[in-house]
Amino acid sequence: MSDRDRNKPCWCGSGLKLKKCHLDRELQKRPAIWEAQRLLSKNSERRVCLHPSAHGSNCADTIAKAHTVRRAADLKSIARDGHVYQTALDIGTIDKNNGDLSVELIGINNASTFRGFCSKHDSATFAPIETADLVLTDEQAFLLAYRPLCKELYAKEAQMESMALIRQSDKGRSTIEQVATQQFASLMEAGIEAGLKDLRRHKAAFDSELVASDFAQMRFVLVRLDCVPDIMCSAVLQPDYSFEGEVIQDIGDLSVELQLVSVTLAATATGGAAVFAWRADSDAAASQLVDSLLRISHEQIPHAIVRYILSNVENAFFRPQWWEGLSTEQREYASARLKQNVGPDDTVGSRYLEDDSLRIVNWQIAGISHKRT
Ligand SMILES: [Zn+2]
Ligand SMILES: [Zn+2]
Repeated sequence: MSDRDRNKPCWCGSGLKLKKCHLDRELQKRPAIWEAQRLLSKNSERRVCLHPSAHGSNCADTIAKAHTVRRAADLKSIARDGHVYQTALDIGTIDKNNGDLSVELIGINNASTFRGFCSKHDSATFAPIETADLVLTDEQAFLLAYRPLCKELYAKEAQMESMALIRQSDKGRSTIEQVATQQFASLMEAGIEAGLKDLRRHKAAFDSELVASDFAQMRFVLVRLDCVPDIMCSAVLQPDYSFEGEVIQDIGDLSVELQLVSVTLAATATGGAAVFAWRADSDAAASQLVDSLLRISHEQIPHAIVRYILSNVENAFFRPQWWEGLSTEQREYASARLKQNVGPDDTVGSRYLEDDSLRIVNWQIAGISHKRT
């Protein structure tokens, strides 16, 4: 090969010269699994402060282990000996169960955490939901949506950084395998990139309101429950289908700007609450989702919420006594829904939120309030 060829941009699109990238890659040493694992866990423990006013001296020296589900108010109220169940996301666990997804116990100090805020900005920003009862002020609705949005962005950035690993994983493989690996990586990156763009756009809108302390753009539906729910969760989601099976937005279309809704299950002074909160710019998708929920009879709404959360929310935690008290059939049903949001086969039919007649919780609705304009 001529010098000129060696100095051409590599075919994989990395932007590097061929000699610095894929030249003789089939002869290179295959990366060890443990190296990959070390890098992955480094990426997922990356410490940053995502607060809009974060910069050097303005931040505390320490990055907090920020809980997205409130530790004292929510996790503690369902914990047994300081532990709750979470969906087992670890491939090893899934394998052990013959591909069946299961749950695993996690200590509440580690449940739902991420390293996305310095300790100063974490405690100052989220005090209105950490230290006061959820009556749902505009500010509380904002914070319930903002925190999982930041966590989602944090996780997506880590995912993008981990793509470098996948691109390196073709060392010592044949040229055909190298091409397949790089094509696969490009596809993955396009999806992550589109997701990042979307999340950054949403976060920028939230950030400017946080800085201005202006939460008037928040919309929400608060479903008050008569008891502490057996499931606690915090997430931002892109509504895909309504509870009646209508398409809300095509989440597979990378060119579409997707709208978001946050979903929270939490404890309150009088029992519990399910909160759907969003900014006005996500009104179309969020309204279509919650309106289809509110057309369901009050007695059945808790079960619909459970269907939605099990099928969509990874960041969910279960009361151990509740999970263990389910019948085998009920547990299989719940596991099948949990698998929809972490398994490799993550396609759901348009009717996945429709009533499937399974009832695994015993929550009654104590009232519903809205703020829609
Ligand atoms: Zn290359
Ligand atoms: Zn900070």
